[in-house]
Amino acid sequence: MSGLQGHPARVRDEVARVREVVARLHAELPRWELVVWTAGNVSQRVVVGDAPGPADLLVIKPSGVTYDELTADSMVVCDLDGTLVDGDRAPSSDTAAHAYVYRHLPHVGGVVHTHSTYATAWAARGEPVPCVLTMMADEFGGPIPVGPFALIGDDSIGRGIVETLSGSRSRAVLMRNHGPFTIGRDARDAVKAAVMVEEVARTVHLARQLGELVPIAPDDVDRLYARYQHVYGQGDSAPVEPLPAPADAPLEDQESTR
Ligand SMILES: [Zn+2]
Repeated sequence: MSGLQGHPARVRDEVARVREVVARLHAELPRWELVVWTAGNVSQRVVVGDAPGPADLLVIKPSGVTYDELTADSMVVCDLDGTLVDGDRAPSSDTAAHAYVYRHLPHVGGVVHTHSTYATAWAARGEPVPCVLTMMADEFGGPIPVGPFALIGDDSIGRGIVETLSGSRSRAVLMRNHGPFTIGRDARDAVKAAVMVEEVARTVHLARQLGELVPIAPDDVDRLYARYQHVYGQGDSAPVEPLPAPADAPLEDQESTR
């Protein structure tokens, strides 16, 4: 693992920190029942505190490794074209999509992909999740949009994610016939969006089995979103904090338990 030799020490230090963060966050995926086997991945952009800013690197899960085997050392480092820079294993097969998002959305610091059951069920129907819950308005500012059908192997998944999310306040997109991709200011924020999109997909699905959904007026959606993002400090200005060890500190957010 010598691909970082040419980078300054502060970049190597930050890569080491982000490896720990990304490895720990992968444990959240099985914990919240968002993944089976090795499907699903978390990445984070490497940002060095002051100028020159982003190091144009990302840290992501290696391909085909089970969640029990994931350690900071097994995480891989790629450039923003998805090319392996440092690591002993091949990067996740979804790395090109993550890298495309970082290249085109400079405010995004974390990306998560899962095939979580209910969100993926909406993706299988190609149907956006309508905004009928205050927690959806809070977290996503409206419906969860559907992105195009896209095959793995080139930029088409990344392009579909970026095009769909660029026209939406949502941090989640349901790629058609595939599953959810979420973005955040860092990987932890994107994992939270992955947990929340599955929760709202499940709840709205159940609600519709019982009868007709009641939409929230667009003005109220705007007010809820603005209040939650700004008054509760959930917006882009919030600090990026490393997540404590998952064993004693599950991913939770008191504001979102209302
Ligand atoms: Zn997938």
